This record gives sequence, C-alpha cells and structure tokens, in this order.
Amino acid sequence: MTLQFQTLQDVSVKDMRVLIREDFNVPVARGVVQSDLRIRAAIPGIKQILKDAAQVILMSHLGRPEPGILQPAFSLQPVAERLQYLLEFPVTFIKEWPPKSIKPSDGLVLLENVRFLPGEIENDPRLAKTMADLCDIFVLDAFGSAHRAHASTVGVIEFAPKAVAGPLLTSEVTSLDRGMKNPKHPVVAIIGGAKISSKLEVLQSLTSIVDVLIIGGGMANTFLAAQHKTIGASLYEADLLASARDLLIRSEQQGCTILLPTDCVTQNDEHKSLDAVRAMDKIVDIGVATRKLFAEQISKAATILWNGPMGVFEDPRFAQGTKDVAKAIANSKAYSIVGGGDTLAAIEKINLTSKFSYISTGGGAFLEYIEGKSLPAIAALINKSKK
Ligand code: ADP
Ligand code: MG
Repeated sequence: MTLQFQTLQDVSVKDMRVLIREDFNVPVARGVVQSDLRIRAAIPGIKQILKDAAQVILMSHLGRPEPGILQPAFSLQPVAERLQYLLEFPVTFIKEWPPKSIKPSDGLVLLENVRFLPGEIENDPRLAKTMADLCDIFVLDAFGSAHRAHASTVGVIEFAPKAVAGPLLTSEVTSLDRGMKNPKHPVVAIIGGAKISSKLEVLQSLTSIVDVLIIGGGMANTFLAAQHKTIGASLYEADLLASARDLLIRSEQQGCTILLPTDCVTQNDEHKSLDAVRAMDKIVDIGVATRKLFAEQISKAATILWNGPMGVFEDPRFAQGTKDVAKAIANSKAYSIVGGGDTLAAIEKINLTSKFSYISTGGGAFLEYIEGKSLPAIAALINKSKK
C-alpha cells in the first residue's frame, strides 16, 4: 500500500526546528494523568526526531476549555511531567503564547494547551501562521486529532515550509488500511457501546466490508427491538428502529451476516435468555451463550475489527462479556485492530493490550476513518505533498 503523503522517512530533520502536533488529549484528574497510552504511543516519534533536530517543540490540545482563559484543569502541565518521566529526558513546559522565549538550551519543549488560544478551533489563519513560524518542518503525529480542521492541525500544515506525517500517524493509517482495504477474509467486526446513534455510519460502512458483523452492548437492544424481541427497560433508541431495520435488510443483501445477542445479564446480575426478559429488566451485558457464540465467530476470522464494550464494563459484575470478547481476539491468529476510548480503557484493565495486532489511539478519528471518511488534517498533508 503506498501512502499519499510524505512521512518523516522522506525528509531529513538534521539541524532543523521541528514542530510536532501530538494528541496528548488524555484523562487528567487532580493534576495527574490517568491513562498515558496516548503519550506512550507518541514516544518513538519524539525520540527519533530528537536525535537529529536542532530544536523540537510539541503542541497538543487537552479537553474542551473556554478559549482565551487559562483554566488549570485543562493545562498540559501534568502531561509535561509524565512525558519527562517516560522519556527520561527533560521537558520544558512553556505557557506563554507566542512562545518568544524558547532558547536552544530549553531542549524538548511542550507548549500549553492550544485550545486556550482564540482562533484554534476556527482555524484562524493568523494563529496557524504564528504556529508555522516556529518551525522549518511540521510533523503531524496526532492521528486522534486528524478529524478536526483546526489551526494546529490543518492550518499550520498550509503555512509550514514543509509538513510530513510522523511515525504514529503513519502506522495508524497503514494498520487501519490493512484491516479496511483488501483485508484477508473472513473479516469479523465486533461493534458495541452504548448507542447506535454515535456509530450508525460505522455500522453502515462495515456491512459492505465485513463478512460477519457482531453487535453487542447497549446498541444491540435497538436491533433486538427491531426484531420484536423483548428488551424490557433497557437502553434503546426508538427513533433509530427504522435505521436498525434497514441495516439488517441491507446487510443481508450485501452478504454480511449480522449476529446479535441471544441471552443477557440484567441489572440485578441475573442471567437470562431474551425470552425471559421482563418489563423492569435492564440488559447490561451479553449472556454466557452469546459470549460463546461471539467467540466462535471470532476464532474463524482472518481479520478482526473491534470497537465498543459488550456491556456496562465499568461495573465489574457486567464486564465479563467484554473480557471474553477481548480474550477471544487475543487468542486468535487473525490480524486484529482495536480502537475506541472506552474499549481501550476496558482492555487496559485486563492487561491484554499486547495481544492485539494493532491498538488505535485515535478515538473519534479512528471511528471516522472506519466510516471511510477523509480526515481533514490527512487531506491537508496529501495536498501539501503534491506541492
Ligand atoms: P468507545 O469509546 O470504545 O467507542 P462507547 O463510548 O461507544 O465506546 O461505549 C462505551 C459505553 O457503553 C460504556 O460507558 C458502557 O457502559 C456503555 N454500555 C455498554 N453496554 C451497555 C448496555 N447494555 N447498556 C447501557 N450502556 C452500555
Ligand atoms: Mg466512548
């Protein structure tokens, strides 16, 4: 597969000022990073550039602060600390904008949250130009932010003297393409999570790619309701019944088999077949028979895509369905891709992260990529490579 954009491999950063856009949008509580998966994923790229560059500046967003006001809860300071610890290399954290006081002796620099800057989200060209002025080469390594057309993603690419993809972004794109474009069959996708509404386009895109589409989690309820099964008081989206029905019909026409749960666990921790679900019951996990059914299908796959927990995994009583799916994928020899914020939180808990072929740290961008959408920052890179 040939890439349509230039990568770090195609250029020399020797003695250059390099600005890297990272995705350090990680959960922070009371000034401490709660999951550093995204920071760790960025480290190989930073190390590689640090070896040769004259100066390395990192920038990222964190959360959704009010622009124009410094809000401590959204500061990247805790990320600077964690990064320094993981890299075993000093990190200079700079809050001022524009950062006029950067000295060569500052070594590796991390700038404060770009979303504090007015114009970031609007992709104000003046802000993008100020960012671009900080570098000789801009490196986009924030796959998780590539679906946003902001000043620090799209805008800066347009103004930078040169712009290339970093190693994380490059491996995200090549790994996801391997699962999505000409994948080895059979392809099995497992989609879960709370709602169909957030993933309708993902489901629609997958029915034309995969051989088997397994649906679990809260979103399975609407499909079950569309088949006139009883789901009691479970989470379900009445306004999406027609879409669910359409998807079931369309998938059949496309030769894609949809698998739905046949039994469940309810909020009182009772195991039930769907026929036994009562009006007051809430379905919170897939049942034992369903776990077996899903695992069997997963074991036959040559390519696996997984996004979305099978149940309310935050409660350990209702995490078993998600764990069993994770284990089935971990035991498979198939090429497996896993992504999604909550899905990663679930697999981090059970220490299975090393067993998948590829773990995407992309979150929302991962989902949009699977939908087959063009991500604006990647499109900007492609454009830049043509120039
Ligand atoms: P991801 O972030 O991996 O894409 P989602 O955000 O779509 O996943 O979904 C995760 C959420 O779905 C979790 O908070 C989980 O509790 C919820 N969920 C899963 N199954 C159910 C269910 N049966 N009923 C209600 N919520 C559920
Ligand atoms: Mg989520």
